[in-house]
Amino acid sequence: MKEEPKFRMTSQRQVILEYLRGHIDHPTADEVFRVVRRDLPRISLATVYRNLETLAEAGLIRRYGGYGQRRYEGNSDQHYHIRCLGCGRLEDTPLERVAYLEQDAKKRSRYVITGHDLEFQGFCPDCQSSGVIESKRSRRRAGPRA
Ligand SMILES: [Zn+2]
Ligand SMILES: [Zn+2]
Repeated sequence: MKEEPKFRMTSQRQVILEYLRGHIDHPTADEVFRVVRRDLPRISLATVYRNLETLAEAGLIRRYGGYGQRRYEGNSDQHYHIRCLGCGRLEDTPLERVAYLEQDAKKRSRYVITGHDLEFQGFCPDCQSSGVIESKRSRRRAGPRA
């Protein structure tokens, strides 16, 4: 007998899903909470977090760990990210996924590979024009050796 999926779409989950699908940033649970509580005044952060996890497990949204806090996004396709070291924004890249990386990782690590993430770092166009790069560079020069 085929097992029925346990996932059930609730109105709370619908609001969260619509928010994520309508925004290309990759918010944390806290950021999602601050927005959706306008529509769901009685929702708690813990409930938002649980709903995000449930939506991710159902494959409707994606969790993204990368460096730092766990983030969520409505784009559930596999894709690579780029992070701005100036303002911290995280965006999707239009790059194709490199399928052979997983074959290679499997061969060399003897792990069962279930996926991979790749994150580029740099400075976004806004930060490039605001001179953030120069101030970061001079700070790096002044700091301890990398
Ligand atoms: Zn930036
Ligand atoms: Zn993304």
